[in-house]
Amino acid sequence: MTASAGGAPAKPVGDGELVAAYEDGRTAEDRQVQDFLGGNQVLEDVARYASARIALPQDVPLTGASCGEPNAFWSEQDRSMTFCYELVEQIRPLFLEQQTEGTAEQREALADEDVVGMANGVILHELGHALVDLYDLPVTGKEEDAVDQLSVLLLTAGDEEHTAYAVSTVNALSGLARAELAGQLPAEAYADEHSLDAQRFYNQVCWLFGSDPGTFASVVQVPENPDGVLPVDRAQGCEAEYDQLNSSWSTLLQPYLKIG
Ligand SMILES: [Zn+2]
Repeated sequence: MTASAGGAPAKPVGDGELVAAYEDGRTAEDRQVQDFLGGNQVLEDVARYASARIALPQDVPLTGASCGEPNAFWSEQDRSMTFCYELVEQIRPLFLEQQTEGTAEQREALADEDVVGMANGVILHELGHALVDLYDLPVTGKEEDAVDQLSVLLLTAGDEEHTAYAVSTVNALSGLARAELAGQLPAEAYADEHSLDAQRFYNQVCWLFGSDPGTFASVVQVPENPDGVLPVDRAQGCEAEYDQLNSSWSTLLQPYLKIG
């Protein structure tokens, strides 16, 4: 607490960081997710990661909460970010389905790792919306695509752990797209204007590959690797696409970047 001298108008609050908090979940399932995220300091870690890289004009709450739907969103009105516990409940079973090897315990542990990675990817996407709004950034093209780019960029520019988070985020999109195709998701399954269409998945796979073609060579579909998900025609342009989006975002965020 600071004593205010003579009722001067409050300065912008805080140091321009994300501030993690957890509301109590409204259902037993939500409280389980709250305990998982809180116990592993998931929101705290992503807040620290983002705040070490980008300055916000004011502190921004990043709150885990029960929302009544699987979602994550930036609120222009409240200038706050919300990560809904229901999103974990929706996506964790999709991660479990993707784990076909190992004991049940091992598969649960891997699904938990993917949940942490997906939470990072989703929250950094929402951070993109926050930055566009708070700094009035001139984004050309679809804002949804642009903030997906930022999320991939921030994760692939970090360490191996964060690159793995980007992979988990792509796996979440893959699982959601598959479930949607199979008619297992209601139309409003992932609100906030995020399409689950294959294009979003292919874009993120492409940028991931473009960030490090050596490491991610296995995503490209070639005769020797028929299980690759990225058509070779698309793969050829991914390194250039990544360089392009890296340069666009670096220019946009230049005044606010804390590291080069
Ligand atoms: Zn969005």
